[in-house]
Amino acid sequence: MDFSLSETERDLVDLCREFAQKEIAPRAPAAWEAAVCPTDLLREMGALGLLGMLIPEEWGGIGMSTVGFVAAMEQLGLADQSVAAAWQAHVTIGSLPLYLFGDDAQRDRWLRPLAEGRSLGAFGLTEPDAGSDARGISTRAERRDGGWIINGRKAFISNAGTDMSFGVTLLARTAGDDDARPTYASFVVETDTPGFTVGPKLRGIGWRGLDTRDLFFDDVWVADDHLVGDPAMGLNQFLGTLEVGRISIAALSLSLTQAVLDLATDYAKERVQFGQPISKFQAVQFKLADIATELEAARWLTYRAASLRDAGLPFRKEAAMAKLKASRLATWAASEAVQIHGGVGYMLDSPVARFYCDAKVLEIGEGTNEIQHLVIARALGC
Ligand SMILES: Cc1cc2nc3c(=O)[nH]c(=O)nc-3n(C[C@H](O)[C@H](O)[C@H](O)COP(=O)(O)OP(=O)(O)OC[C@H]3O[C@@H](n4cnc5c(N)ncnc54)[C@H](O)[C@@H]3O)c2cc1C
Repeated sequence: MDFSLSETERDLVDLCREFAQKEIAPRAPAAWEAAVCPTDLLREMGALGLLGMLIPEEWGGIGMSTVGFVAAMEQLGLADQSVAAAWQAHVTIGSLPLYLFGDDAQRDRWLRPLAEGRSLGAFGLTEPDAGSDARGISTRAERRDGGWIINGRKAFISNAGTDMSFGVTLLARTAGDDDARPTYASFVVETDTPGFTVGPKLRGIGWRGLDTRDLFFDDVWVADDHLVGDPAMGLNQFLGTLEVGRISIAALSLSLTQAVLDLATDYAKERVQFGQPISKFQAVQFKLADIATELEAARWLTYRAASLRDAGLPFRKEAAMAKLKASRLATWAASEAVQIHGGVGYMLDSPVARFYCDAKVLEIGEGTNEIQHLVIARALGC
């Protein structure tokens, strides 16, 4: 296995490193305090082509490989996890359903502005009573007046309530079906469609800059051309899209782990106790060595899942393994890094504390880690 980057991928990594260091990192502390999605930064990333990363040039993107996307994330996530979270949600689950399942007219109308960075994409699956159990959604779409009427509510939806949000691609049960054998379809609902409203921005432990809200659909009518893909295959489309999202969350986890490893190593070399830097204490050294070793293992799993996707091979199990391993590592490594910082690391003015807060959601979003266990166990034939 060789995961060395091509020249194009290396150029992209350089671009992301420079943008992250110059434009994102200096604003991270203030962005944390403000707790607002920095859409001006996302627009700048769009101008650099970063918002259409996994979309071919034909539809306004830059047609990057999944391996290149992971490598880009490793740079962006070092600077600010909220910005990286908004970016990755847009690039994967926010844009891919339209690219993979939409027709050319839909791609031209909605995907192109997303890929060119003129608008932000959102993925509406979760509901108050249906998270892990995606089949349990109750949002309904019924045929009416040459189109569809949608009623229901979505919970914790990212990127749908900002000043550059285009709306949402959502999953709904299609009415008229026997509930014992329900069918599901996906639809685009644009911002400003009558009956579609967004709730207030939700406040999380971390990812404070990510715009996450509940969405409400009250007799929302959309024309037939808003139905995305095969009307009987909506659930498969959404679950398939989440597989790419899992590689993305794994990559975000790698970036967080690298960030806290760097911070803890630097701090351990500077902080003097008992007459010597704490990096000279074996207990501290072992923590750092363990994080570095686990990070390398998680990195290999993540790049492997990404390279399988690039090769057009199945990657469901590998994506679940990468997400499980990397997100568990991120929460543990962040905790160890705070420990190495002592009291300073507990204070929210320190970058390591912000990364600690940002880590937990990595074990929840795009399928909880318990669900990743189920996916892996099923692949084992259980
Ligand atoms: C910041 C943030 C952003 C998000 N953005 C989006 C978004 O853009 N779009 C979107 O659609 N969703 C989004 N989500 C929702 C997210 O995908 C769900 O929170 C997640 O899938 C879990 O669903 P739930 O919260 O309903 O938890 P539940 O499904 O209720 O799970 C609760 C607990 O039960 C466990 N559990 C459930 N079923 C099983 C089982 N069969 N076996 C073992 N354990 C089980 C879970 O692992 C978990 O520990 C976001 C969430 C957050 C926090």
